[in-house]
Amino acid sequence: LSLVRAGPQCTTVDAVRRKELRAMRFIEKQLPSAIARDALELYFQPKYALSEPRIVGAEALLRWTDPSLGSISPALFVPTAERCGLIGELGDWVLRHAIWALARLRSHGIDLRIAVNISAIQLRDELPAHVEQLLKEASVEPKWLEIEITETALLGDLPHAAAIARRLRALGIKLTVDDFGSGHAGFGYLRELPLDALKLDRSFVAELETNEADRRITESILGLARSLGLETVAEGVECEAQRSLLRSLGCDAIQGYLAARPMPLSALIERLQP
Ligand code: C2E
Ligand code: MG
Ligand code: MG
Ligand code: MG
Repeated sequence: LSLVRAGPQCTTVDAVRRKELRAMRFIEKQLPSAIARDALELYFQPKYALSEPRIVGAEALLRWTDPSLGSISPALFVPTAERCGLIGELGDWVLRHAIWALARLRSHGIDLRIAVNISAIQLRDELPAHVEQLLKEASVEPKWLEIEITETALLGDLPHAAAIARRLRALGIKLTVDDFGSGHAGFGYLRELPLDALKLDRSFVAELETNEADRRITESILGLARSLGLETVAEGVECEAQRSLLRSLGCDAIQGYLAARPMPLSALIERLQP
């Protein structure tokens, strides 16, 4: 049963498309009960400072393990959840669990910021009050929560997104643009939004050591961020050459398999325990 990944037997575009549709239907059918049964889990991938050996935060990444299919990628089921109206429930599950994780970190004496990925559809008027409520219930200060949102998500309805972003930021929540540079966005929106950080898209990092254009683009993005007073994080850093280049280009932090893969909360706590 390989509903989720197109196998070698898919030779035509049609066959691939059919397989995708089946996968979508499967996800649509099973996701609600996965949410109800807690078949989901959050993994956490640390972000490392480049100027000193220190973990500066961690990103919560959804994992769904199905008894027969094994692990299903969020890159697949998050878009499906968005299309079939489940993202509200799913996003709420993630926020709740990320905030619980923050409370657990605190109970171990660990102060760490956790970033949560938010879909465009979650940027509703109710979101700030809802997040505030969840933080209160868990006795977690808002400054420990960070929200990662892609530029595409922000651009759908910029004035509306900006209003919600301002309210989140007013609570003390950190705001980061995810996958920066990968969409078809201009720069104008950076002016409209109260932001804390830019996360450089993995596509620029992947060939950073060999591709001159990628290096120059990265340099420009880092310069832009610096001049706007924004922190920078590079995602998908897989080798030492990328890390040292990013450091020499003045990037603040990195995230990627080189430093650490996403891990369960218990492993993160182990890593950070004083
Ligand atoms: P993202 O937010 O850009 O997350 C980064 C993705 O890159 C993660 O994939 C992470 O595991 C992966 N990654 C980290 N380091 C490396 C590396 O060195 N090399 C490579 N090749 N990949 C690396 P993951 O966990 O499969 O998540 C994929 C996407 O699914 C995320 O991209 C995000 O857009 C979405 N997603 C994940 N969790 C959530 C969630 O809770 N809510 C929402 N709305 N979206 C989520
Ligand atoms: Mg992210
Ligand atoms: Mg990203
Ligand atoms: Mg990405």
